[in-house]
Amino acid sequence: MEKYIPDVYQKSIYTIDYEKLKENGITCLLFDLDNTIEPYAVKNPDEKVAELFSRLKDMGFQVILFSNSGKKRLRPFKEELEVDCCASARKPNTKKLLHVLKEFHLKENEVAIVGDQIMTDVLGGNRAGITTILINPISVREPFWTIPNRMLERRIMKKLCQRDLFYKGRYYE
Ligand SMILES: [Mg+2]
Repeated sequence: MEKYIPDVYQKSIYTIDYEKLKENGITCLLFDLDNTIEPYAVKNPDEKVAELFSRLKDMGFQVILFSNSGKKRLRPFKEELEVDCCASARKPNTKKLLHVLKEFHLKENEVAIVGDQIMTDVLGGNRAGITTILINPISVREPFWTIPNRMLERRIMKKLCQRDLFYKGRYYE
């Protein structure tokens, strides 16, 4: 069950202690897009996201959008936030993730992934051996293709809860 447990669990991308991540040696942040930085229906980053990303870059982080969505969806975010991006990432498959690590000469202990889904972001990140940060999805409105993953996620969360390993809403660093 360990592969489903995030290293950090926070309410949103705005409550994560990025200073602490930096102190712990994290130099690169991979962000999921949909329902992590914006809801599915939002086509461009808002000012709050732009401010956060600019602060993270000022702190010295390399910021990369790492999304299962396609290039077209990612383009306005890549351009307006001025970050690298990896589209069609196929999380929880680790192939593209490991490729990004290799391409940017990063070690597993220097990278964290931030996302809203256990079955994609957390599972993929844990499989690759990087730090995993789960946040709550921004919106309850999700496209139909997320339904199977969310059903699995609920089942896993229930099991984790029974074993006292993870509770929804019980945040930790
Ligand atoms: Mg997502």
